[in-house]
Amino acid sequence: MSPPERAMALQRVNADLLWLILDDNWTRARTVLGNSEIQSELRAQRYDHVGGRSTGDIDYADPTGEAVARTASDEVRAGVIERTWRHELLLIVDHIARVVEITSILTNDPTPKRVLGNGWAGQVQTVDRWVSWLLLVPQNRLEHAVSLCDDELRREVDASIAEAADDAQALRSGKLYHHTPDGVQVSIPSVHSVLHSARKVLARKAAEPVPQNKDYGCANHRRFGLEADLSADSATWCDRCRNFRRREGVMPTEAILRHWEIHPRSYPPPRLIIEAKARKKRKKAS
Ligand SMILES: [Zn+2]
Repeated sequence: MSPPERAMALQRVNADLLWLILDDNWTRARTVLGNSEIQSELRAQRYDHVGGRSTGDIDYADPTGEAVARTASDEVRAGVIERTWRHELLLIVDHIARVVEITSILTNDPTPKRVLGNGWAGQVQTVDRWVSWLLLVPQNRLEHAVSLCDDELRREVDASIAEAADDAQALRSGKLYHHTPDGVQVSIPSVHSVLHSARKVLARKAAEPVPQNKDYGCANHRRFGLEADLSADSATWCDRCRNFRRREGVMPTEAILRHWEIHPRSYPPPRLIIEAKARKKRKKAS
């Protein structure tokens, strides 16, 4: 590498890592990772093929077959993606740390301290600090150190910088890989890919028509000009109508709903239930 190439590669590492902090990109990507719609969008993208396997997918052996809930596998996937990101970031930090170490020894300048904290943001800030220290004008510690290196050491400095640049680019928007315990290489989406998928899912959702029922509460109550909030488990009925129908096999009639308006805590009297069931039979017969 020439001096400008080294400087440029280090600036690129820094720019890619700072992008992670910018607009909270890393945090936002992490937050959406567990979302199953975003997970399926990621799988659908099939970044490339590694060993003939589609790669957005992390294909784990499913010990209990179909019994494992989809959400659980999404969680596993999210965990693997995040761990791969953190691992990649630590690799970058290690590469730059090695360059800083060599430079510090050769120039007799003390190594700049790490930013405290184990979080990823602290790692990014540490790299930022180190890159500034290495390239600081006018002394340019890095080139001063390189001028004192033998060939072997210079190759090590250059390789570390080049690998850090590749890794940072991969973490931000390139291709990452994870090796499963059984030795299968799967590709892992970059932070940018995850945010991009999240945007696609959101755009698709925004384009979907809003289900009418959501806006108007329970459909059975609405028939009689009454209002009741939807049940958390139903897109159509309120808790009361839903439970009544489960138990009695018919929807509550207007008389039953009126009864509830007056006696919110009491179960409808048998008379009203019999009437509701009879009405259903009549409807069927006609
Ligand atoms: Zn209702």
